[in-house]
Amino acid sequence: MTRQRHRVYKNRLLDMRVRLRGDVSRMTAGALTGGAEGAQRNRMPIHMAEVAGDHFDQELSLALASSKDDILQQIEKALERIEDGVYGACDCCGRRIPQARLDAVPYAGLCVRCAQDEEDAAYWRGG
Ligand SMILES: [Zn+2]
Repeated sequence: MTRQRHRVYKNRLLDMRVRLRGDVSRMTAGALTGGAEGAQRNRMPIHMAEVAGDHFDQELSLALASSKDDILQQIEKALERIEDGVYGACDCCGRRIPQARLDAVPYAGLCVRCAQDEEDAAYWRGG
């Protein structure tokens, strides 16, 4: 993966992190017009539809099941991987993660197969 691609994903990850943290002051959203009261605590900080492509329904449900903190952690790890220049390689098997997957889930640390294995393991562990 080129350095340029890394930068694209890095920007997306940083953007996601800002939204997940609810740091609205750094957003350019028109929602700020409401002042302090505009900070709607119950509002979902990120629209999952934006991070999930058509072919990633399963990933979408995974993302929704994950807690905000989990996703933030994964984003942090992904940012570290970008710094280390290993972003886009599966954490588990080392194979390249398809770009379509990274487009859908920029913080994905595992390839589809390994993520599936993890999910299965979690399921059989009862959570
Ligand atoms: Zn893998």
